This record gives sequence, C-alpha cells and structure tokens, in this order.
Amino acid sequence: MCHYHRGPEQSVTAPAMSVAAPALPPISILMYHQVGEFSSPQKHRASFCHVKRFTAQMRFLKRYGYNVVSLDQAVAALFHGQPLTGRPVVLTFDDGYRNFLEYAFPVLSRHRFPATVFLVTGRIGQDSDWVRRAGRQAATLMSVAEIRDLSARGIGFGAHSVTHPRLSQIRTERMREEVQSSKTQLEAILQSPVAHFCYPYGDYDPAVRDAVANAGFQTGLTCIRGAANAADNAFEIPRKAISYGDSLAGYWWKLHMKHRRKDPAG
Ligand SMILES: [Zn+2]
Repeated sequence: MCHYHRGPEQSVTAPAMSVAAPALPPISILMYHQVGEFSSPQKHRASFCHVKRFTAQMRFLKRYGYNVVSLDQAVAALFHGQPLTGRPVVLTFDDGYRNFLEYAFPVLSRHRFPATVFLVTGRIGQDSDWVRRAGRQAATLMSVAEIRDLSARGIGFGAHSVTHPRLSQIRTERMREEVQSSKTQLEAILQSPVAHFCYPYGDYDPAVRDAVANAGFQTGLTCIRGAANAADNAFEIPRKAISYGDSLAGYWWKLHMKHRRKDPAG
C-alpha cells in the first residue's frame, strides 16, 4: 500500500477530482551509470551499460510506445496529483560521467527522450576518485562547460553530493554540508533551481533524508528497487538499476515485473 507523507514545502491540497482520477500506472525510474564500450565487467555490473545495449534499450522504449518522461513529470504525477498515462519510464544517470555526453546523449537526443544526470559537484571536470579509492578504475566526469551545454539542450541535472561519501556514515555536520553545498554549487553552475538529489551508493538514514528535505530539494532518489509508486515519501524514491547483463528480455522484465519495493540486502 502506498501512502505519501508530504514535507512542509509540498503541502499541496489535491484537487477534489483526484479522488475519482484513475490510479497512476507504475512508473519505472531506471538507473544507469556509465554508458560506453566496455568489455564485460566481472563486478559492479550495474555501473556499466554497453552502448550497443543502451541503443537497443532506447529503441525498444520508442518502438513499443513507452512514455519516457522527465523526472519532474513523474514527481508531479506521484506527489502533486498531475495525470500521467501509458507506461511511464524515467531515465537517470548517476555521477555525471563524460561518456554520458559521448555515448548516451546522442541516442537520447535522436529519440527526444528526457533524462536526468546526477552530479558530484566537487568532482566536476575531474574524475570519479571515490571509485579509485575503492580499488577500481576511475572515469572522467563532465566539465562545467559540457554540463551547461547539455542543460541548454534539455538534459536535467540533479545533485549527488560534493564528494560522493556514504552520507549516513559521516558526521552530521559534514553530511549536511555535502547535501547543501551540492545544491548551492550546482545552482551556481546552472543558474536555476536544482530540485532533485540522489543518495551516493543509495546510502541514507532518516537524518540524511531530512537533511535533503531541509536543504530545499523536492526529492531524494535511492537505490531501493521498485516502481517509484512504492515510495513512502518524495525523499525515498525507488529506482530500477539496469545492469550490464540485461538483455532486452531482462530489460522488459525489469520494466514490467519489478514494481514491488525490495530493499537491498544487509
Ligand atoms: Zn554515484
């Protein structure tokens, strides 16, 4: 059962007609990280999507008439009573890798699909050093100029902290700073409000969630698997990770069958 707790800045009164409005269809928010040409990774397979598979997945969404909408549209439907029909899909990309620009954007652009990229604001124009510190190969992240250019071409951006820490595991003061500064820094780059936050590693607890709400974000996106409709509130929105190994059949399965909320084990 879904019930939504609205934060103070979201105290919208649902119009009376919404009582009779049809139930929202399940909304799948897909989570990608890197898109490019990779040989099959042994680990962290949800961090990579081969561009050939990505191209086939986007063609699949187009051919079979999925309703690819922006994160803003999905949030308006989920929490503000706006209508949304068909089989809605939202495309999100974590970390802001430069290969988004090289490989994913041309495909998205061809289909006119909206997408949201979550940026680690303290690493813009550098590389994913948190990946290197975990013993894996870091990748180049987009620059300010590239981000501004994509923003002008319709790509949405959200914040993903300043340095990509596990927010529930650092001191409260620093955690709040990571959340708040990522918003301030990104808004300075884009010259527009930033509404969406994505928890690094999907790691959060009630204090982190509240810090995101208090910083003025409208949403918090997790790595809890499920349809977005399974969200308890706007700051704990589930997504569905697309893995390197997902064939089109697996992709279809994730779009249609993985709606119930499933928290990561452990
Ligand atoms: Zn990340």
